[in-house]
Parts: sequence; structure tokens; C-alpha cells
Amino acid sequence: MSEKTVNFGNNIVLPAIGQGTWYMGEKASQRRQEVDALRAGIERGLTLIDTAEMYADGGAEKVVGEAIKGLRDEVFLVSKVYPWNAGGHKGIAACEASLRRLGTEYIDLYLLHWRGNYALDETVRLMETLQQQGKIGRWGVSNLDFADMQELWQVPGGQVCAANQVLYHLASRGIEYDLLPWCQQQSMPVMAYCPLAQAGRLRSGLFNHPVVNAIAQEYQITAAQVLLAWVISHRGVVAIPKASSIKHVEENAGAQGISLSAEALKQLDAAFPAPEQKTALDMV
Ligand code: NDP
Repeated sequence: MSEKTVNFGNNIVLPAIGQGTWYMGEKASQRRQEVDALRAGIERGLTLIDTAEMYADGGAEKVVGEAIKGLRDEVFLVSKVYPWNAGGHKGIAACEASLRRLGTEYIDLYLLHWRGNYALDETVRLMETLQQQGKIGRWGVSNLDFADMQELWQVPGGQVCAANQVLYHLASRGIEYDLLPWCQQQSMPVMAYCPLAQAGRLRSGLFNHPVVNAIAQEYQITAAQVLLAWVISHRGVVAIPKASSIKHVEENAGAQGISLSAEALKQLDAAFPAPEQKTALDMV
């Protein structure tokens, strides 16, 4: 079984499953477990870690900082800037604060968390400045739909955008209508957030769906692994499940090597059809 990877360009090829961190850093009592889970993930090859200044008000970045101590070179670190910090001096200060919390000198990929206060060209200028200062390796966006991406492509320097992070799971396939094929055409990785639909909280019954369960049984894997294997069966897509237990991390890492057959994919398509028309970008 070969492990799936995604090409980020410039010789950066990453495993197609990474680690999310939303809701980490909220409770001191869970900190040890969260750090251990992230470290266990890194050991098992889940080296892309996704965080944001927003999560636990910087608390998640601190958990990540602790988890990557001594392992910085093994990790591809992704963080995100609030829209209201995504320009000018505020942006520099926000990035520096993230770097302090993460205990590192650079972020590999820095994303605009969602569109908002600054015009896209101001955000692109900020990202270029941060790159020149060596504080970030590359930059990207999050929660930008097809039309936003067309707009970004018109901004000078906008086409350097290295990734788009959007909601994507088996029961929310809106991006397949236009955004995903377009990103694939640009060879721009898509980072799928909520790939487990937040353990089914976003779509009740997903983990117990008969088709998902039948495939899980056939492959002797869990429902979560079916969902992750499905997400990463799409070219150029990285799934970033968040897991705060080592058991979940191990399962998620195991999904990297699972290739669903054409027949299994067909069954999932029938149960969760791809969109036939444009729908608004799903977000949480
Ligand atoms: P996920 O779909 O990753 O679901 C997380 C939930 O799934 C947690 O409750 C976790 O439990 C559980 N889980 C993890 N692994 C398993 C498993 N193998 N079996 C069963 N349950 C499992 O939701 P998230 O919202 O966390 O999304 C993933 C990441 O994407 C975020 O953490 C964040 O980094 C990013 N994100 C980005 C957004 C954006 O706007 N750019 C928005 C939302 C998320 P437990 O913790 O107990 O292990």
C-alpha cells in the first residue's frame, strides 16, 4: 500500500494527511494529551500541522510550539491570520506573535483565514513582505470560493498563492463543482478542513451510514478511515483531521495508505452525490 502525498511545489511533497488543532489549547488539563497526540502524529508521518492565531486565542499555537520542540525541521507548519490582521503593520505584528507562540522563526505556510477587512492586494503585499523578512515560507488562503480565487488571480502576485483551505468531507462536496477542479488545474493543493465532519457533528448519521459502514467492514477499517481515504482519493487534496487521542491519530495515519476501489467510490458517490449545480461554499 503506497502512502498518498501531495505536491506543494519547490520540492515539497507532503503526506496527504496532516493534523488539525482547532479546540486544542482550550483547557490546561488537556494540554499534555494534546501535545502527546501531535507528537505521536509526527512520528507516524503526519508532519503537516495546521493551526491559527484564532484557535484558543493563540493557545493552540502554544500547544503546537510545545509539540514541535526539537522536531521543527520535520514539520510543515501552517498557521492563519485573522482577516482584520491581514494587512500592513497589524499583519506583521500578528505573524510575529504567532511565531513567538509557536517557538519558531518561520511558518512554512501562512494563510488568510477568511476574506474580510483588507482588500486582497493589501493581503498579498503583507504576505510578500513577510516572505522577504523570512517569517513565512509561502502563503495561501482559506475559505475563498471560486469567484474569490478568480479575483485573487487578477491581483499582482496573487497567483503565487500556495494553497486554499476549505471545508470538504463526504457529505459536503460543493467544491467539486468548480473550485476543486480549478485548483487542480493550477496544481494548487486544497487543504480539506473538517474532513471527518467534526466526528459526524456537522452531519449526523455520517459515521453510522450503512454504505460507509459496509465499506469499513469490507476493508476492515473504521468509518473515520473511510471518510479520510475518500477525501484524499481526490488529486491534490490534503486532509487535516484534528485528533487529541493517540488512538485517533494512529487511525488517521493509517488512512494514508488506504486506496478505495472504483466500486467503493461508486457506492459512496451514489449515497453522497457530487453537486450538479453551484452551491455557496460551506464553512464552519
Ligand atoms: P474534524 O473533521 O477533523 O473532526 C475532529 C473531531 O473528530 C474531533 O472530535 C476528534 O476527536 C474526532 N476524531 C479525530 N480522529 C478520529 C477518528 N479516527 N475516529 C473518530 N473520531 C475522530 O474537524 P475540525 O473542525 O477539527 O477540522 C480539522 C482541522 O481543520 C481543524 O482542527 C483546524 O485545524 C482546521 N479547520 C480550519 C478551518 C478554517 O476556517 N480554515 C475551519 C475548521 C477547521 P478527538 O479530538 O477526541 O480525537
